[in-house]
Amino acid sequence: MFNFGRAILNYCSSLRQHALPPLCLLCSAHARCGNLCAGCRSDLPHLPVERCPKCAAPSRAAEVCGACLAHPPAFDRVLAPCAYAFPLDRLIQSFKYGGKLAAAPALADLMWPVVSAEAAPDLIVPMPLGAQRLRERGFNQSLELARLLAARMDVPLARAACARVRDAAPQSALPWKERDANVRGAFVCTADVRGYAIAVVDDVLTTGATLNELSRVLYRAGAVRVTGWVAARTLAPEH
Ligand SMILES: [Zn+2]
Ligand SMILES: [Zn+2]
Repeated sequence: MFNFGRAILNYCSSLRQHALPPLCLLCSAHARCGNLCAGCRSDLPHLPVERCPKCAAPSRAAEVCGACLAHPPAFDRVLAPCAYAFPLDRLIQSFKYGGKLAAAPALADLMWPVVSAEAAPDLIVPMPLGAQRLRERGFNQSLELARLLAARMDVPLARAACARVRDAAPQSALPWKERDANVRGAFVCTADVRGYAIAVVDDVLTTGATLNELSRVLYRAGAVRVTGWVAARTLAPEH
């Protein structure tokens, strides 16, 4: 008997095979596979192998960096594949501020080798966005990344475990030294996370002040390990 549904499926898959290759999210050249062309992929600002085991900043002989020695962060460590630099910064900005959601799988792909090399967490938590910021942007970029990584790793996603209760001034508008105070008291954890190893997903790590504050809240709620997973970390002279 003629299977109409199967015929449509076959037709669709043959269309897909003959479709043009996808376009690179950064330069619109044809990308052979994934969402980035080979040129842009090789231009990605990968972090050096020798980096601080706490905050992933480049460090000599992979020792704990001066900033982490002076002010030990609350989080266990940060896993990041790249520096927040050209051309990745453009991709992240178009994702976050331009609503280019197609960037999410490309960023999650970039994070995958780094985050899957470690022991899987018990729970994945997206960095919460304040209500006002969420209204302006229409989506939480960290949740989009967390959702993809949680599905791929088969780890539960706790999208509402934490909330941002105070919309602080944008961290990027503040001098680095004031960022700690700016995020103090910004988060609450409403889930029972006692005994859980947690990965907090965010797009970019700057000073680490925001991740540090959320980690404090999660540890206070009983988490046993908090790791930050980010697509990129800034390389600032202060760090
Ligand atoms: Zn390209
Ligand atoms: Zn460090």
